[in-house]
Amino acid sequence: TKEDVKSYLFRNAFVLLTVTAVIVGTILGFTLRPYKMSYREVKYFSFPGELLMRMLQMLVLPLIISSLVTGMAALDSKASGKMGMRAVVYYMTTTIIAVVIGIIIVIIIHPGKGSKENMHREGKIVQVTAADAFLDLIRNMFPPNLVEACFKQFKTNYEKRSFTVPIQSNETLLGAVINNVSEAMETLTRITEELVPVPGSVNGVNALGLVVFSMCFGFVIGNMKEQGQALREFFDSLNEAIMRLVAVIMWYAPLGILFLIAGKIVEMEDMGVIGGQLAMYTVTVIVGLLIHAVIVLPLLYFLVTRKNPWVFIGGLLQALITALGTSSSSATLPITFKCLEENNGVDKRVTRFVLPVGATINMDGTALYEALAAIFIAQVNNFDLNFGQIITISITATAASIGAAGIPQAGLVTMVIVLTSVGLPTDDITLIIAVDWFLDRLRTTTNVLGDSLGAGIVEHLSRHELKNRDVEMGNSVIEE
Ligand code: ASP
Repeated sequence: TKEDVKSYLFRNAFVLLTVTAVIVGTILGFTLRPYKMSYREVKYFSFPGELLMRMLQMLVLPLIISSLVTGMAALDSKASGKMGMRAVVYYMTTTIIAVVIGIIIVIIIHPGKGSKENMHREGKIVQVTAADAFLDLIRNMFPPNLVEACFKQFKTNYEKRSFTVPIQSNETLLGAVINNVSEAMETLTRITEELVPVPGSVNGVNALGLVVFSMCFGFVIGNMKEQGQALREFFDSLNEAIMRLVAVIMWYAPLGILFLIAGKIVEMEDMGVIGGQLAMYTVTVIVGLLIHAVIVLPLLYFLVTRKNPWVFIGGLLQALITALGTSSSSATLPITFKCLEENNGVDKRVTRFVLPVGATINMDGTALYEALAAIFIAQVNNFDLNFGQIITISITATAASIGAAGIPQAGLVTMVIVLTSVGLPTDDITLIIAVDWFLDRLRTTTNVLGDSLGAGIVEHLSRHELKNRDVEMGNSVIEE
């Protein structure tokens, strides 16, 4: 109908606008680079991008809570149990496939040939053992204070350290502008030595704890019959209201993305310092991520649903570009919701249930990258890994990706766990810091793609439960 054609054009104009933003941002960035802006100038220049980050982050917490509570409450316990199982199986399978791809590709390409002595270094790293990190992850599932869990926290239990770092935004610090080498050294040392984000956190907020609580809470009010009605309606309209805010922010997104990308290009270090091994390493990561994102995940989607994965991915374009621009899967979450529900028509009971969990624990790109980078570091150290050690790397890389927060460069921090598990020097993370900002964007995009295709797959597998539930409820719980 005419309405359909109009909305089709409208949607595509939006995607076109976003793609244009990426292109214009890139051109603008490279045009302004030669002018060597100062730290302050770059900050001013990237300001519209910083605003986008903040707007998205602003919505993430209420979105996670309201969507999980309503998502859980809208399902009966059998349906949510089954759907949860499917989601977990999907997360684990794809993460493990990603790790295996990372390992195979880095062994075949072998980017770490030669010695590390001629490689460039930046920053220092703190020691974290796998056990510490694992316990922290479990600990964070149960926040003793829900209100506190909503605040920024950079306290860690590692090495009996405890920090509370007053920072306005992660992007500001982690993506700190590197104007000259000494400033770079100082900033990076501060980040890596002191700032170990809480595992499972989002913007420093204990998202994992909130996810666990919201799921339990939603489950309980879903089973409360009339008594739970008021709460169900409250969270449902809260969720609806947040999604309307997301729709407003989406109008601003292209502009924000333009400046995020241009600002990053202006501030990045000269590529001159990137030597042969690091260049090969970068190529290897890109190849690995491409295999996973362009071949494995779409193929899996096709095999399960028998639908065209590219049509589905086309509907996700805006989310994928936002991931590329923000390098944060949690900041992208609001847009991911919009794309899946509106462009791809995925059932809200599925998106509300699986997306917040996926954005917190399912990170294929990060898992692939962690395993690959650890083996690369072994290669530059001429450290021969035996089969057992490779298995250890694949397990810890999986765990590290689950523990990594959906924020910029979180994967770099949880890398420490992987390296320590096989006795590799954690200081060598400094060898790969120079290219991490770039690889981070690509792995974040892969993470978002994995979560989204997962929602499509889980919806397909759960279609019978969803239908039964509709019949049972006279389809009145969730407006569709
Ligand atoms: N930035 C990534 C994300 O938000 C996490 C990572 O550093 O790998 O998904």
